[in-house]
Amino acid sequence: MSATRVLVLNSGSSSVKYQLLEMTDHRRLASGLVERIGEDGGVADHTEALRQVSAELTAAGLGLDSPQLAAVGHRVVHGGTDFTEPTLITDAVLARIEALVPLAPLHNPANITGIEVARALRPDLPQVAVFDTAFHATIPEAAARYAIDTATAERFGIRRYGFHGTSHAYVSRAAAGLLGKEPSEVNVIVLHLGNGASASAVRGGVCVDTSMGLTPLEGLVMGTRSGDIDPAVVFHLQRVGGMDTDEIDTLLNKRSGLLGLCGANDMREIGRRMADGDERAQLAFDVYVHRLRRYVGAFTAVLGTLDAVVFTAGVGENSAAVRAAALAGLDGLGIVVDPVRNAVRSSSARLISAESSRVSVAVVPTDEELEIARDTYALARG
Ligand code: AMP
Repeated sequence: MSATRVLVLNSGSSSVKYQLLEMTDHRRLASGLVERIGEDGGVADHTEALRQVSAELTAAGLGLDSPQLAAVGHRVVHGGTDFTEPTLITDAVLARIEALVPLAPLHNPANITGIEVARALRPDLPQVAVFDTAFHATIPEAAARYAIDTATAERFGIRRYGFHGTSHAYVSRAAAGLLGKEPSEVNVIVLHLGNGASASAVRGGVCVDTSMGLTPLEGLVMGTRSGDIDPAVVFHLQRVGGMDTDEIDTLLNKRSGLLGLCGANDMREIGRRMADGDERAQLAFDVYVHRLRRYVGAFTAVLGTLDAVVFTAGVGENSAAVRAAALAGLDGLGIVVDPVRNAVRSSSARLISAESSRVSVAVVPTDEELEIARDTYALARG
């Protein structure tokens, strides 16, 4: 029996998501989520969570000991400048991922634990790390560098890394397919709008700019993250507000964005409240959309010529209101959304631009797990 299945593990700080995929036909054989790790009512730690994943798979007759399992693919958030492509995990690779913890203190430790536990369970299996930053490694220096003292930047690894790379890679390629083109033939802007949100500019299949930076805090307005702010806001909060570093970190990452503006971080609730005339919800929506438009304009200029704007993730795939507002009045840039096509609810990749639109507008459901599984399978087969 040949080994054609890949287990994808996404070990977050308080949850582990998994999918088991059959790579001959991309069928999802199993998927699940272990939540509230280390919290009341949850499992104790990541080792326990991985044991539960293993038990769930065994109960479904798809145990980790199966000879059909070809490899395990791990999502790893930060690859720094070390990792620019999916990488077969060895002890040396794991040590380098550990060395990157200062760049992603909230994310990389959980990813590492997931890798260690999976390796202990199946030491004979190839295990592959797929990095959230890797797709952005091609961003030229002019876009990746912050205009700060070079020695300081180099000493502390301060530059734009970008995140959600697996999604931007998958969606930009799928969008080219939807247009009947090769990725190398099109320039696209991908708007990944989930609870976290990021934009990227992809020229001929190669990422040339993205909105997230050293950390996932920069760029678009998100569910609970501020996105772009004047960095001097931080000093002001320290000097005038008497807040310390951790308080400001929590404020900007967990209590800002849509939540900070109106008390809700779910776009569905914001839509309902707007319909009831709630002014704070309306303002949150307006700030969110304004930031999106800024990035669409900026990345159009970065690309020079634009073939498609592509929406993905929870908000991008589901909110016709956000899509319409983000691109309204951009016919001067050749971007015209068709209101009827935009209103159609569907889980398939689709075009929502008007016939008259020079630039295509698309909705493409993202599939980070499939992308990780493909990368993993390709490496495992050598
Ligand atoms: P994700 O991180 O990709 O899972 O996206 C999660 C976010 O998608 C949620 O916080 C919601 O704000 C948003 N979302 C999900 N479904 C809808 C919907 N039907 N309409 C608007 N927003 C949605």
